[in-house]
Order: sequence, then structure tokens, then C-alpha cells
Amino acid sequence: MVRLPSCPICKTRLAATAATESKDFPFCSARCREIDLLRWSDGKYAIVEPISADKLAEKIFDDELNEPLDEAGY
Ligand SMILES: [Zn+2]
Repeated sequence: MVRLPSCPICKTRLAATAATESKDFPFCSARCREIDLLRWSDGKYAIVEPISADKLAEKIFDDELNEPLDEAGY
């Protein structure tokens, strides 16, 4: 017996040929593929927020740049 694949998002039964013929496999459509992608990135960022030392320095630099702008108008 051949087990038909199904979309992990909406559980739609896929064609047996989907694995080779569908560009959205294992999802039924591009929409479901996007939903899965969003879920994935949401979870990832919720658990670990990847801030590198570079980004952190960039943020501090930005803050310092913004401050004198306020005082310049004074
Ligand atoms: Zn689907």
C-alpha cells in the first residue's frame, strides 16, 4: 500500500506524484509553504534572538547618532 503524502499545514492529501512533480512539496501550495516558513521563523526568534556583537555595536552607534540630532535643534 502506498502512503499518500499530505500537507503538514492543512492536511490536504497530495498526489502520489507530488514529491517529484510539485514545486511546493511537501506542502499543497505556495501559501502553505509560506505559513510553515512564518511559523518557523516566529518560533526561532521567540526562543533565541540572534544579536551579534556587530549588530549590537551598530545599535549603540545609531543611538549615539540620534542623540546629538535632538540637541542640534536646541
Ligand atoms: Zn496545505
